[in-house]
Amino acid sequence: SDDYKLVSRKWKVKPATIDLGDGILVKEGSLSIMAGPCSIEGEEQIEKTIRHLKTNNVKIMRGGVYKPRSSPYSFRGLGIEGLKTWFKAAREAGIKIITEVMQVSQIEEMYDYIDIYQVGARNTQNFNLLDELGRVDKPVLIKRGISGTIDELLYSAEYVFSAGNENLMLCERGIRTYERASRNTMDINAIPILKEKTHLPVIADPSHGIGIRDHVEPVALACIIAGADGVIYETHEKPHEAFSDGQQTLNFNESEKLIHKMRKVFELR
Ligand code: PEP
Ligand code: MN
Repeated sequence: SDDYKLVSRKWKVKPATIDLGDGILVKEGSLSIMAGPCSIEGEEQIEKTIRHLKTNNVKIMRGGVYKPRSSPYSFRGLGIEGLKTWFKAAREAGIKIITEVMQVSQIEEMYDYIDIYQVGARNTQNFNLLDELGRVDKPVLIKRGISGTIDELLYSAEYVFSAGNENLMLCERGIRTYERASRNTMDINAIPILKEKTHLPVIADPSHGIGIRDHVEPVALACIIAGADGVIYETHEKPHEAFSDGQQTLNFNESEKLIHKMRKVFELR
């Protein structure tokens, strides 16, 4: 083990800069905020979210159009048509899009409408998907597997990198442990360890990390202190009506408070 090379800080001493265009960079030394609903639900929700992000100078919007749901009967996303609607509104507002790609066939389908491909925790070791994302010239954020080790996450990044795509970000989103008081166990340890091992930006997802709305803020702030280069989290105008993950989703007031606190804490780091 430990024989990944391309993603290691030893090999690439200089920290990676992920350039999303229009001066929007994800990199060490700045705090990237990515916020939005778990699922894209429709035009009105897209518009309201964009307005919230613009008000708070957040440049990257998250949202799923292909949703990996535990039950096949849960809402599984609006698909490519939802992405096209979202893209049109986001482009007009100067907002960048990160969304999950679940399978190889979606890479090309989504290409014109996204800024960052998200590899979900259930696909961290989908090696065919990783290989294909290596052949694409758009940034990729790889989430840590649900029961994945830090080394396994780095190997997943090595797949994409070695296939030709260096524009990678890693994301700690909590792991499955014996603890059931929280949805997942946010592995704060992973953040300084990843920062030591790799030159790639490290992003924290406190929403999936703890899975409880009231506790997303302290976990997000802790992740920044621990060295995260960015935070991705879920927000919705009416979390109780969200099509997915409402229990861990911040309303816009809570989201705005979090943004202010994150920026303050980042300055103290
Ligand atoms: C999500 O970002 O909504 C999501 C499904 O995340 P994860 O893959 O970490 O479960
Ligand atoms: Mn979610």
